[in-house]
Amino acid sequence: MCPQLRGAAFLDRDGVINKEVNYLHEPKKTVLLPGVAEALNLIHAHGYLAVILTNQSGIARKMYDVTAMEAVHARLRELLAAEHADFDAVYFCPHHPDYTGDCPCRKPHTGMFDQATRELGIDPGSSFMVGDRTSDVEAGIRAGCRTSYLVRTGYGLKTLAKGVPAGTVVTDNLLSAVRDFFGETIR
Ligand SMILES: [Mg+2]
Ligand SMILES: [Zn+2]
Repeated sequence: MCPQLRGAAFLDRDGVINKEVNYLHEPKKTVLLPGVAEALNLIHAHGYLAVILTNQSGIARKMYDVTAMEAVHARLRELLAAEHADFDAVYFCPHHPDYTGDCPCRKPHTGMFDQATRELGIDPGSSFMVGDRTSDVEAGIRAGCRTSYLVRTGYGLKTLAKGVPAGTVVTDNLLSAVRDFFGETIR
């Protein structure tokens, strides 16, 4: 890996970082999943960036706006700060094909990965993706991540029932995925 480039943990948001409540847009409904603060701190302890990549089609559907989404992110940072943890950046896709037409950023497309990689100086081949839907895992694979994890939180169990792309690594949650990636424990 080029010495100037860093590895990143690319993280889906809903169902991975916070509880999946469908079109989350209220700070008061923002609830951290267990082990997330520890996972973020472990990512940082290894010199990796923690980058959230989230499809937010609720914006295309006019269910909420960017300001409301940002209030959720501020609440997430507040909840994490209480556990001395944080994430480094958030990239979001506000589109949906039925409402705004196709876009290059909605997972499983890799637009958000490409933008983060460019702006933050990330080496995708040293990086990993963690998500709860097929589109997350597919995006991670297409973006050239070393490992793409599917977690059993959020929609993970429903996704697993449908089958996941070859090469997907399945773990219970974000913390177990991060531990697996850094070789700290068994799955
Ligand atoms: Mg999700
Ligand atoms: Zn998009």
